[in-house]
Amino acid sequence: MVREEAENGRDDMLIDGDEPEQMKLDYALPDGFNADYLKVYYGKIFPYVDMSKWLSYGNDGKHPGCDHSYLGRREFSFTLDNDIYVRFQSFNTASELEKAIKEKCPFKIDIGPVYSVDPSKRHAYSQGGDNIFTPVEKELVFDVDISDYDDVRYCCSGADVCLNCWPLMTIAIKVIDTSLRDDFGFSHVLWVYSGRRGVHCWVCDGKARRLTNEQRAAIVDYFRVYKGNENSTKKVSLVGPALHPFLVRSYTEVLKDYFENRLLSSQNLFLNEERFEKILEMIPDESVTSELRGKWLSNKQSDVARWDQLKRLLQSSKQKGQGLRRCIEEIVFSFTYPRLDTEVSKHMNHLLKAPFCVHPKTGRVCVPINPKNCDEFDPSAVPTLSQLLRELNSGSFRGEGDNEWDGTSLGDCVRYFRESFLQPLLKSCKEEIEASYNAKVQQSRNSISW
Ligand SMILES: [Zn+2]
Repeated sequence: MVREEAENGRDDMLIDGDEPEQMKLDYALPDGFNADYLKVYYGKIFPYVDMSKWLSYGNDGKHPGCDHSYLGRREFSFTLDNDIYVRFQSFNTASELEKAIKEKCPFKIDIGPVYSVDPSKRHAYSQGGDNIFTPVEKELVFDVDISDYDDVRYCCSGADVCLNCWPLMTIAIKVIDTSLRDDFGFSHVLWVYSGRRGVHCWVCDGKARRLTNEQRAAIVDYFRVYKGNENSTKKVSLVGPALHPFLVRSYTEVLKDYFENRLLSSQNLFLNEERFEKILEMIPDESVTSELRGKWLSNKQSDVARWDQLKRLLQSSKQKGQGLRRCIEEIVFSFTYPRLDTEVSKHMNHLLKAPFCVHPKTGRVCVPINPKNCDEFDPSAVPTLSQLLRELNSGSFRGEGDNEWDGTSLGDCVRYFRESFLQPLLKSCKEEIEASYNAKVQQSRNSISW
């Protein structure tokens, strides 16, 4: 009780920015992440309404076709303080969800599938003998993590990321987003910064949510060109007489440009022997590699100049056929093509961190990324928990609306989520609910008339 009161007192101080004494407090507070900050974030800023509207997919309305059990069958998992992991949480209404988050103050919230029955009552169902507790819907998700690119970036490794290697994530967004929309016909695709070292993608169209595990695996396979492992020299194998149109488009519209105009110089891919040998290993012709090696060992050239020499030599090797010229593309793919954590995408019951969570290590909010201008996204400029609370305190942001997030730099992120993702999504959910309801009514009319 005492602890709780103390915390409440702290919360009040944090939000009451009008008094000059409170401003001094800002400087004394450490940056990053702590439970007190999080409590204020969940209490004042977290966009509950938009999150619940998203996860209800139109089933929270008054239309007779709405399935009011829908939200309550969704699994949420909370990681609490001290790494206590609580799975199979479920909430029947938006306000139940909000109440639980505010009360438990989870350090991390994960979203799982929608099950056939309320996941918190799964034991009761399994005791009934019928094994009916099974996932029935889940967004198609993708997880891209920059630590999977350690063999092609020299600026950082592991969980670290900077503006020199972040373009690898931009490439992944561009390639996958275009394909999801143009090749698979999905429209409701949400990209989210994971808070530290990567990006998540949520494909929310009805037909994506109802994909089976087998269908998900087939989509993952469609994206797969990266077949190597840590120890194999050849990470990418582009086989067949012609490249798949998806790969050609990815190459000409995204990969080539990023490789030649960004990564080549920013990563210094040809800087020294160790680095250029890694590239030469991908060329299966000794006469070509020894000629290049000779040039590079005896002269100092820029990365761009070395790449141009390599291209010229491979392209002029006409008599050596398609295979050798394909090397250029294979090198570019190896250094740029998206690397997916495939297990996350393949299984319906895999959980993924919720948007608008705060990353416990960086204190950064998992904000949506607009794929249309993902080039401009800068992970180091993403609002942190402490920054948001300072803004809330100082009242430096004046939003137009009644929401507290409007008064912070998170406002633009929530507005993007609402206007560009949620509103079009809910419009198509409404149409889908309407259409399936009408079809049912028609069906029952037909059966009566028999
Ligand atoms: Zn870096």
